[in-house]
Amino acid sequence: MSAPEKMEFRTELKQLLHLITHSLYSNKRVFLRELVSNASDAIHKLRFDSLDSEALLENDKDFKIHLIPDAKRGRLVIRDNGIGMSRATVIENLGTVARSGTKAYLEKVKEATAANRPDLIGQFGVGFYSAFMVADQVEVISRQAGDPADAGVRWVSDGQGDFTVEPVNRPARGTEVILHLKEEDKDEFTNPYTLEHIVKQFSDFIEIPVVLHAEKPGDEKEADKAPEIEERVINSQKALWLRPKSEITPEEYNAFYTNLTGDPEPPAKVIHYSGEGSVEFKVLFFIPSKRPFGFDYGEPKVGPRLYVQRVLIMENCEELLPRYMRFVAGLVDCPDLPLNISREILQHNKVLETIRKDATKEVLKALRALKEDDAEKYRAFFDGLGGVLKEGVREDFANREQVAGLFLFPSLKTPHADRLTLDQYIEAAPKEQEEIFFLTGDSDALLRSSPIVEAYKAKDRDVLFLTEPVDEYMLPGITMYKGKKLRSADAEKAPDEVAEKAEATGPVKNLLELMKKWLPEVSDVRASSRLVDSACCLVTPAGAMSAHLERMLERMGHADAPKAKRILEVNGAHKAVTALAELAEKSPEDGRLVAYSRLLLEEAMLAEGTPLPEPAAHAQRISELIARDASR
Ligand code: ADP
Repeated sequence: MSAPEKMEFRTELKQLLHLITHSLYSNKRVFLRELVSNASDAIHKLRFDSLDSEALLENDKDFKIHLIPDAKRGRLVIRDNGIGMSRATVIENLGTVARSGTKAYLEKVKEATAANRPDLIGQFGVGFYSAFMVADQVEVISRQAGDPADAGVRWVSDGQGDFTVEPVNRPARGTEVILHLKEEDKDEFTNPYTLEHIVKQFSDFIEIPVVLHAEKPGDEKEADKAPEIEERVINSQKALWLRPKSEITPEEYNAFYTNLTGDPEPPAKVIHYSGEGSVEFKVLFFIPSKRPFGFDYGEPKVGPRLYVQRVLIMENCEELLPRYMRFVAGLVDCPDLPLNISREILQHNKVLETIRKDATKEVLKALRALKEDDAEKYRAFFDGLGGVLKEGVREDFANREQVAGLFLFPSLKTPHADRLTLDQYIEAAPKEQEEIFFLTGDSDALLRSSPIVEAYKAKDRDVLFLTEPVDEYMLPGITMYKGKKLRSADAEKAPDEVAEKAEATGPVKNLLELMKKWLPEVSDVRASSRLVDSACCLVTPAGAMSAHLERMLERMGHADAPKAKRILEVNGAHKAVTALAELAEKSPEDGRLVAYSRLLLEEAMLAEGTPLPEPAAHAQRISELIARDASR
């Protein structure tokens, strides 16, 4: 046979190869994904072509991809019995990187900063060349299906600038890629466990069996005997999402979910469908039954997996679902995307935008169905993850109302353990009620006994209780729901249907004037008709933060957040108030007046859950009061 023929890569290619192998990768391990995908593609191509010409199969239909590590020689072989390559196709396919626009790509790389460079790799048609990330020499031996044995070809390159091709005799069709591993990569990529792990991570679901050749654990005494080699299929090949829904059992879905997430609880809902139309894709999503263990640890993982033709492209693809759906586990498989798509390209990808829109809608639909069909299951989901879902009214403008319709709230008229949706609230409210009343606070129990809700209770109006920290963040996102305004029950102006305007007269009016002087920490002291049993309460001036939000910010370390002075409303019909007013009239110099006024304010603060700035002074005032009263 003639000597190997030496050929050069195109010049731009030389620089490009240097970049690829030296600076462009973020994760070396993807080389195996690329080579296994190429092998799988080659087998699919052969299968397709053989539909017309069975002879191409050469009586070998046992399609397999072999991974053969050789630690002693520092090599890794990836072998397939796919379509193979002729001399011409080898030169055409492996001699030209990024067949179009190499120069443009190079320009881009030059502009790239060190920080974003690693992700650029996906922009090149460099799948095969990623082999040079781990190998200092790559050998490809191939023979095209249907060609005679002596039409085989051997291609060798060190990825530096040129390659050689020579004819070889190769009885078996298909391709063998032999990686002569770099010194520093030898141990890692000849280790069977590592190889298995990488295949499981990236290529577990490809249809073709990936067979790993690994030494059987040998007997130490027979050290000089050649170790026995065991061939083992290491990918599961089961791409559940590609099978028809009707053929998949709930157990299979559950097992898949557990495998994917590590969550042993079966999911509350499975979403499995094919997107059709301008973009074709498959979706398999799971809604967890409750907050999965570990959901709160580490960086939040946002986005389902992205597969292209069963090959994992990204563990968490943020472009596929909005952030507030980060509890959804699962994947999208979209054959319309190139295998080596990069994160940067993903960010502005029309295909992904279409999928995201559609998938978001499907998740909302599934949550609605769960809420309607299985209230108990939905409740368990919402108790654990509703807080995440609530972020949606701020993040997803287009679906805001739909998202809000999924929320569950405790409320004044709902028994303690039950929950209410906004729609149920509206339905139960009198027709003329134009608003949805709510109150934020630390706990259901605290809000239920708050003086603020007395009038609502008396007038048989319901008030939603918003007790989760996320509620304060959520509120600006739903100022309206289905044409009804959301209104805080402790707003400065009580709704007309709940309390008429109150006007103080005579001694009470005088008392309120005095209290305003004695209590500089409130902006006003006024008469109220919203109170029934309590003597007083604090309300929030229009436009100011709620007391709950102020407390929350303070706990979170924002001591400098602006604080608005609140308004003290006083129940002019309450005995404590009338008695105090009489005392003020009779003996305006009595020292008890100031002390009792302060006690009233402190009472209002305690009732809404605001800690007293001077609890000891408060205790003292109470003790004095007891002493005086008991000795009467
Ligand atoms: P891509 O797979 O994205 O086209 P690659 O650089 O990975 O880019 O491969 C270039 C081409 O080389 C492939 O399109 C294919 O035609 C050919 N090729 C690579 N590996 C094999 C293989 N194992 N068998 C047959 N052809 C292959």
